[in-house]
Amino acid sequence: MLTETSSGLWCASGRFHIDPWEPVDHAVITHAHGDHARPGSAAYLCSSSCEPLLRRRFGPEVTIQSIPYGQSLTVGDVRISFHPAGHVLGSAQIRLEGADGVWVVAGDYKRAPDPTCAPFEPVPCDVFVTESTFGLPIYRWDSTEMVIDDVASWWSTNKEAGRTSVLFCYTIGKVQRVLAELMRVTDRPVYVHGMMLGMIDTYRQSGVSMLPVEPVIERTGRGRSRAASFAGELVLAPLSARGTPWMRRLGDISDAFASGLMRVRGVRRQRGYDRGFVLSDHADWPALLQTIAETGASRVLATHGYAEPLARYLSEQGLESGVIRTAWEGEPTGD
Ligand SMILES: [Zn+2]
Ligand SMILES: [Zn+2]
Repeated sequence: MLTETSSGLWCASGRFHIDPWEPVDHAVITHAHGDHARPGSAAYLCSSSCEPLLRRRFGPEVTIQSIPYGQSLTVGDVRISFHPAGHVLGSAQIRLEGADGVWVVAGDYKRAPDPTCAPFEPVPCDVFVTESTFGLPIYRWDSTEMVIDDVASWWSTNKEAGRTSVLFCYTIGKVQRVLAELMRVTDRPVYVHGMMLGMIDTYRQSGVSMLPVEPVIERTGRGRSRAASFAGELVLAPLSARGTPWMRRLGDISDAFASGLMRVRGVRRQRGYDRGFVLSDHADWPALLQTIAETGASRVLATHGYAEPLARYLSEQGLESGVIRTAWEGEPTGD
């Protein structure tokens, strides 16, 4: 059904690529993150709820076709359908049915509840292509509720000390999830970096409820220093803003990063954040194993992150397994 090419996964019987990393004729996309949806392809196919995010990234001129979750489309000799992956808004597992049976390419996924997107649905298949971003037994997530309570108490401690709380997070998915989850503990507006406003808007237009946001613009309060005016506020910012002159206006800060990467204390120290909040949009180790079992697949291919350790573990459990390499060498986007 699928073969690895220099542009990514290729489906010969449907003549399309899945999440190609080079421009192609027909790109079928799991979700809008930069390591899965690259610009430049002639035509894109994605889930309906993913389409506004792709449009926001690629512009109105780009050819994008979309279908709702659960509906199918026949392309060449393959029947394609999209099923919720629970990773970010519009994220989908791609189900392919053809002469080689049923394959499911999960893309990135998680099993923890997330108010900003549809929950993951296990899809029975013969071959399951799973992500393995956090495919090691050390990766186990705490409940989102606990993590958000930690964020809220960090914020209020900083407020008492007159500091600005700066939480770095990815622009597609994580920011919106933090803003939606914080509604449980506060109704205060949150400040966000200007780069994040567009995607937050796209989520709102898709019907996702989140705290109100204000863009960070320099406030020249009379008789107050400009820097002081963000004291006590929570500011969400993309990683790219870290260490830039933009930060200066925020005054005395405490900074933190919200990511599954923060599970490992050494990483947290090495990156030099004051705090790390372990909030991931990927499946942790138990969720990976649970999901693989639920699909009933007799063959599992792992990709992204710790693909080899996961494939080795599955082989030891008697499951036919392998690895799909990716061109993406960087950190997971969106986590
Ligand atoms: Zn990814
Ligand atoms: Zn992703």
